[in-house]
Amino acid sequence: MEGLDKMTTTRKIQTGISARHVHVSQEHLELLFGPGHKLTSIKDLTQPGQFAADERVTLVGPKGVIQKVRILGPVRKATQVEISRTDCYALGVVAPVRESGDIKGTPGIVIIGPYGPVKIEQGVIVAKRHIHFTPEDAKEFGVTDGQKVMVKTEGERPLIFDDVVARVREDFALDMHLDTDEANAAGLNQGDMVTIIDDATASTMRKA
Ligand SMILES: [Zn+2]
Repeated sequence: MEGLDKMTTTRKIQTGISARHVHVSQEHLELLFGPGHKLTSIKDLTQPGQFAADERVTLVGPKGVIQKVRILGPVRKATQVEISRTDCYALGVVAPVRESGDIKGTPGIVIIGPYGPVKIEQGVIVAKRHIHFTPEDAKEFGVTDGQKVMVKTEGERPLIFDDVVARVREDFALDMHLDTDEANAAGLNQGDMVTIIDDATASTMRKA
């Protein structure tokens, strides 16, 4: 574990809770919503350029169906379905915990839109919890891209999340992303503030 010894801040980080959602390729978007279809943004997300789209789809797994699953834009190179572990049970899909974009060898699913269905051969994941940092924020917190940190939540059901991946990019904004299962386990609401545990404390806790 690389050190957080350069952490010079007591700044807290806000939580963004990701409900189940789908990222689509333009090709799949047109199969789901019709030729030439473009996503309609209804709300900007915290990360610059990312938005919640008006378009929603149905996920069909071997054991169940989940309706009204929102598409997040803009379109991507590959379609990716991000669901919680609870959703996995409902759908009958065994999705691994992965970082966004790392979909090789993951299960597929059937997605249904108003125009038609798409069967993807891979792309269903449970998103690995992570924090988005700008390079400036990363420097302030003493973290590097890909580093794992420990995060403490507050409130009625405080929890410590280990293995939170730091992701550093110029076009990111400071935000920790959890899924609904993780947020519910910790009793977190959208925007609640969390703290990165300093390296000395974290390594003591890992040894205990
Ligand atoms: Zn994220």
